[in-house]
Amino acid sequence: MLLKRKKGIRPAQYKELVNIINQKDFTKLSDSELKQIINTYKQNYLRYLDNNSNIRDTKQFANGYMTQCYAITKEICRRVLCLEPYESQLLTGIALCFGKIAELPTGEGKTLAAVFPAVLNALTGKGVHVLTFNDYLAKRDAQWMQGIYEFWGLKAAYIQENMDRPQRRKAYLADITYVTPKEAGFDYLRDSIVYEKSETVHRLFNCVIVDEADAILIDEARTPLVIAGNIGDQHQIDNRLLELVGLLRQNIDYMTDENSRNVYLTEKGSSVAEKYLSCGNLYSRKNVETLTDINNLLHAKVLLKQDIDYIIKDGRIEIIDEFTGRVADRRKWDYGLQIAIEALHGIKCTASNRILGKIPIQNFISLYPEMSGMTATAKSSEDEFGSTYEHDVYVVHPNKKCIRIDYDDYVFTHKEAKYNAVVKEVCTSHSMGRPVLIGTSSIKESEQVAALLRQQGIECVVLNAKNDEEEAKIIALAGKFGAVTVSTNMAGRGVDIKLGGEDSPEERKKVLELGGLYVIGVSRNECVRIDNQLRGRAGRQGDPGSSRFFISLEDDLLVQFGLKKDIPSKYYGFRQEERLDDRKLLSLICHIQRVVDGQNFEIRKTLGKYSYLLEWQRRAFMKKRFEVLSSGAPGLLSTEKKELYDELCSRYGKERVDEIQRKMSLNCMDELWYDFLEYCENIKEGINLVLAGRKEPVDEFNRLSISKFEQLQEEMKERILETLENTDFSMNDSQLADKGLKTPSATWTYIINDSIKVKNFSIFSRL
Ligand code: ADP
Ligand code: MG
Repeated sequence: MLLKRKKGIRPAQYKELVNIINQKDFTKLSDSELKQIINTYKQNYLRYLDNNSNIRDTKQFANGYMTQCYAITKEICRRVLCLEPYESQLLTGIALCFGKIAELPTGEGKTLAAVFPAVLNALTGKGVHVLTFNDYLAKRDAQWMQGIYEFWGLKAAYIQENMDRPQRRKAYLADITYVTPKEAGFDYLRDSIVYEKSETVHRLFNCVIVDEADAILIDEARTPLVIAGNIGDQHQIDNRLLELVGLLRQNIDYMTDENSRNVYLTEKGSSVAEKYLSCGNLYSRKNVETLTDINNLLHAKVLLKQDIDYIIKDGRIEIIDEFTGRVADRRKWDYGLQIAIEALHGIKCTASNRILGKIPIQNFISLYPEMSGMTATAKSSEDEFGSTYEHDVYVVHPNKKCIRIDYDDYVFTHKEAKYNAVVKEVCTSHSMGRPVLIGTSSIKESEQVAALLRQQGIECVVLNAKNDEEEAKIIALAGKFGAVTVSTNMAGRGVDIKLGGEDSPEERKKVLELGGLYVIGVSRNECVRIDNQLRGRAGRQGDPGSSRFFISLEDDLLVQFGLKKDIPSKYYGFRQEERLDDRKLLSLICHIQRVVDGQNFEIRKTLGKYSYLLEWQRRAFMKKRFEVLSSGAPGLLSTEKKELYDELCSRYGKERVDEIQRKMSLNCMDELWYDFLEYCENIKEGINLVLAGRKEPVDEFNRLSISKFEQLQEEMKERILETLENTDFSMNDSQLADKGLKTPSATWTYIINDSIKVKNFSIFSRL
């Protein structure tokens, strides 16, 4: 499943390639002469690929075809966008072509850098996807770069959430498609349940360039994309369990762990439950479902907070995105938890669906045979890119040296002192008109900080926009004279902050004199990479700028992870208004951040282990399904059963038999597959509940899922045969539907909400 690391041209040689590109000069040619060169180039290049079985890591390829393509693209860029690509952009483009994760700071023009490898890869006609961070950027970037592609005779397109299937199919047929991983992934899932090949929208996956690669490949990597449909019965939570959970007492019958990420029954709570339900040992196999329901109900009741994690609107639960504070579109919790929270609020079950397909973003992206990525912050997560994806990080230096000053953190004993100091610092900068961007860890904190600033009479903009486009417009203005912007540290990725605002040299000059943008972080993230993203908002393209983090010993990072013990005991219970002047504390805090980041990496690795085998099985199943979709089931039949098929054909006509048997076969396969998925979900929960602490849960999970998958393969053949034997091939479509062709009448796609990520790690006290 891992993506191949490209060999061949070494990074040390990239600079030479840039020199070759720069030696080529097309400036004197007219547009039509340049197009002539393009045509000749295309023919030669395609012939080369044909004759060399697509080998693209030789010197001949790099020095010849690649540099020629990049040099032409560079010239087109000058003509169409009136921009002279920097050496740093060419280097990034080269690194991307060789499958690297390229690091180039914010504002250096990665959008343009990606066009070089996109053109080169798109010339084969097999399609290139550029994955963007959100829909707004997909549209912006496709439209922005379109002119360059057109000059090459290539077509660029983009996908938006509200597009219908035909529009999507058309966009995927373009040579280059800008799309979010979410949309591309949902389309893939929808393609995997169609009954007619012509209904699919994707082509075979070919090449992908991932923008904001760290966010997509690391932070979002384990987020599962899901497609669900309404067939079959829904799970019901017994009212007695609801009553029981109402009776359980915190810290007596159940406990939460210090991260408030898990909740579990105590010994005492388990016996209360056993008595109340008269169910015998709660941890026996027969009670797995009951225990899972109790666990989910507790999770919903104790860990999820109304109006913070979710709101209830029009009789529905809507999840709130922690970072943006917006209602998260198309997001649900895992099936069991979603049902539990609805049951708690007496809401009619909306999770009454069956999972028809599910794939984590990481596994989706690894379906592309060729992948590369770019972001401003990759180096600090180099290990994870290496071990999870087998891709190297290649660091490109900015066009102009970065002169931003990153000051040491200011550390305070308690939060109040920290916030007071932040407000004071903002006042000082603001009184001169210097723009300040304040990065917070959540929308709630943004609002707190904004309220404190307003008390001091400072007008500020809080970034809580309704959509990405609005957000982009606001953040783009954060560099204006006198601007104070409060935002979560994740908001506005991909949007440039220009000093002085849009295109105003005088305004820009004023802000330059004040030292550029000042970025203040009010807490450290669990990952230093995210902190670096925030700092990188200032000092773009050689501009001046500075950054500083304000932290307190009460911050979540220090409290939540049980690492407070690492802090010298003299600071316990000690409060002072002035900051602590203790250099040792600074390195200690960096240490704690590294530990927490390491723990999160481990969690992602474990989650990856659970999905590794399932992904293999999914691919094996989908391969079979695709065969049947393309040519029906005869391929699955044994020789003697083939006779049955031939006989049916001669009786009812081959075309009709093929169509019916294809649909019926797919239906059998899907039914079995949905059962299999459900089984895997159940054992995953059950394994953690029942077996944690005894055996390696992952091994046990794999053992069970392997034997179930074998069973599935056997059953598939049998059921298809049985179905063929029992189908009346003279039926029309509506009769067919009545007779058991059970397709979902509606499907919907969503992503599973983050908060569940850690739930799989519940270790129950009883074990
Ligand atoms: P990144 O994605 O690296 O943060 P963008 O692609 O959003 O950066 O580009 C940032 C800004 O830099 C854009 O306004 C773009 O027009 C500008 N830019 C990109 N390349 C060049 C160039 N070669 N010369 C001048 N400006 C450029
Ligand atoms: Mg960008």
